Amino acid sequence: MNNTISPGTINPSLKCNGCGALLYFAPGSRSLKCDHCGERNAIETDQTDRAIQSVDYDRFIDHLSENKKSDDMKVVNCSNCGSQTTLSAFTTSDKCSFCAAPLVLSPEDGQQYLPPHYILPFEINKQQGIDYFQKWLKGLWWAPKDLAKEVNSSSSGLQGIYLPHWTYDTDTTTGYNGRRGEYYYTTENYTVTVEGKTENRTREVQHTQWWAVSGKVNCSFNDLIVPASKSLPPKTLNKLAPWNFKMLVKFDERYMSGFRSETYQVDPQQGLLMAIEQTKDQIRYAINQDIGGDRQEIGDIETDYLNKAIKYIMLPVWASAYSYNNKVYQFTVNASTGEVIGQRPISWIRILFFILKILAVIVAGMLLL
Ligand SMILES: [Zn+2]
Ligand SMILES: [Zn+2]
Repeated sequence: MNNTISPGTINPSLKCNGCGALLYFAPGSRSLKCDHCGERNAIETDQTDRAIQSVDYDRFIDHLSENKKSDDMKVVNCSNCGSQTTLSAFTTSDKCSFCAAPLVLSPEDGQQYLPPHYILPFEINKQQGIDYFQKWLKGLWWAPKDLAKEVNSSSSGLQGIYLPHWTYDTDTTTGYNGRRGEYYYTTENYTVTVEGKTENRTREVQHTQWWAVSGKVNCSFNDLIVPASKSLPPKTLNKLAPWNFKMLVKFDERYMSGFRSETYQVDPQQGLLMAIEQTKDQIRYAINQDIGGDRQEIGDIETDYLNKAIKYIMLPVWASAYSYNNKVYQFTVNASTGEVIGQRPISWIRILFFILKILAVIVAGMLLL
């Protein structure tokens, strides 16, 4: 990353048809809303072209190296108040630091950033995000009793962010060798001593006979998701899944108005390796099925990844942190499903009391016998 600052241009399509003020995307809708006069401008979409399609991976990578994106910071002029805000590297939209008006870079207007293919618009607005968070907080096991009450006021700092993700499709062919184990049984004689006398007995003993095997399996994968942002830990992002992909729409930067958004920081080649990692368990499972028998051992395997395809998509989250007892806990709300993933305090005293209560019940039960 270099830290040069280049001028950015704000997207001109954010002006209200009614009064000319700047518009914000309204979560749960397909339109922009004017906070000033209440007018709604619909984001018109091409209804004839609704199918979600991936693009050929190799062609995408070739195209990418021709159009190297710049990851400079950008200074943009707010068209509402005229002041300047610096968008950090990897950020393509944010709010004006002075008047909170939306700042959305325009990919057409000489900006060297790669526009995503699809975007999952915010379904859940800020208030609903806070409600989901509060509900999550109240439902936590072993949380301190006053947690929900103490945290009540601090969740208003929720920030809406679109995070970049890659999705991959691929067909795989895997050649393997290994061994198939089949059980067989033999009868063994053995002796035991009962009351000083020796007795002869027999028992069935299981053995495994191994056969060398080799073969080929085919598996197809769709929509393997890899987070391309480094703003949140991958563990958090993976737990926010599943995403409601039925609601994906063709990318339009107007959906980002009023939200922060980022470009990718994990490049698509790195992402592919992470997606391939996700295929391995299923391929091994398919090989074990193919080997059959009672036990399986997999030797060498070699997988060809064919028909690779990719989508570059934006997914919406509300992210924030709360503090309790002078400690800060981060949490994230999936803004398409309401799923909450967060860090949390644990009340060891409540756990201790719970254990004591169970012990008391057991002791009481024993006394009654
Ligand atoms: Zn207006
Ligand atoms: Zn401003």
